[in-house]
Amino acid sequence: MSNVQRAWIVERRGRPSHALKLRSDWKIPNKLEPGEVLVRVQAAALNPVGYKLMAVLPNFMGSGRPLPAEQDISGVIEDGNGTEFSKGDEVFGFIAVDLSQATRQGALAQYVKMPADFLVMRPSNVSPVEAAGITLAGQTAYQGLVDIAKLEAGQTVFINGGSSAVGAFAIQIAKAIGARVVATASGKNEDFVRRLGVDEFIDYTKKPLHEYLTTNPPSPKYHLILDAVALIDSALYTHSPAYLAPNGLFLSTGPFPKNASSSELWKGIKTITAVLTPRWLGGTNRRYAIFLLKNKKSNLEALQRMIANGSVKPVVDSVYEFEDVLKAYERLLSSRATGKVVVKVD
Ligand code: NDP
Repeated sequence: MSNVQRAWIVERRGRPSHALKLRSDWKIPNKLEPGEVLVRVQAAALNPVGYKLMAVLPNFMGSGRPLPAEQDISGVIEDGNGTEFSKGDEVFGFIAVDLSQATRQGALAQYVKMPADFLVMRPSNVSPVEAAGITLAGQTAYQGLVDIAKLEAGQTVFINGGSSAVGAFAIQIAKAIGARVVATASGKNEDFVRRLGVDEFIDYTKKPLHEYLTTNPPSPKYHLILDAVALIDSALYTHSPAYLAPNGLFLSTGPFPKNASSSELWKGIKTITAVLTPRWLGGTNRRYAIFLLKNKKSNLEALQRMIANGSVKPVVDSVYEFEDVLKAYERLLSSRATGKVVVKVD
């Protein structure tokens, strides 16, 4: 085996077309720490956090460029290093952002070393391309609905962004729990979202969402609002008593919209400070939270089971060749993908 590989490396700060370079001299990791395995990557999926980090992180904040891009992978174990995995096992998982920066590993490379705890076996009913996009978006949806909101059968969840990667997982997981699901997307994606199992569809392009929800208040009110678009829309938060149950929870995947400029990032930070934090801290009986995904093997195993039994299906928007990563980012940056944008690596 050669000791170098091809990898898309973040070399500069900016948009992917400016920041990324395809290199063929990137070292294959040759030393595994206890608990780490070496994976030959078959496919990698892109996530908005990938380009957001490229665009905003100055080098001194730990990005430590050059660094292979992205987190989500599927692949084959090359060296199990005495862990639960053996050479040839087919797996999927992700390299969390902080770990990626600490260990200089990323998904857009032919080989990665990563902890066995960040991987599970790929169910035989999904392909490597489908499996590549499960972990980051799927775990975000699972943690929001199950770990944080503790959604139960019979409750109603409102999912903003039902056709997004996180939203598509959230709809399916909520239905698997037995919840009633209301979801938004633009009209062109109504069929896509309904096929995922939603009970009620809202076209968010028709009028501002808070206006729609205050003029059509749900009865009973929602137990959970999951904003999987990470909108900066303080009106959505401030009007939420009209549509959120008294003990309900308003969860957002982030304060930063796609393609955020630095002024929008500041607006997002002000939204957290001015709108969310006082209400969260103020002891009202309605709760607001922005959450960040944490890696939990138990969550990954729960997703693996749901996928193996067919209650959740990975949704792939598009598949690109390794050389076409910049085109794949253009698709993701359009904010129009329905499901995951995946790159074939081997
Ligand atoms: P995607 O790129 O998959 O989202 C694209 C989708 O968003 C499209 O289908 C589009 O549908 C929909 N969309 C765009 N604007 C709106 C809108 N105003 N209302 C409703 N739907 C809209 O995104 P991901 O699912 O990968 O990520 C979603 C967000 O969550 C990102 O901001 C990401 O950074 C964040 N995130 C945060 C995590 C965390 O740990 N906090 C983890 C994962 C993601 P249409 O064409 O119909 O508009």
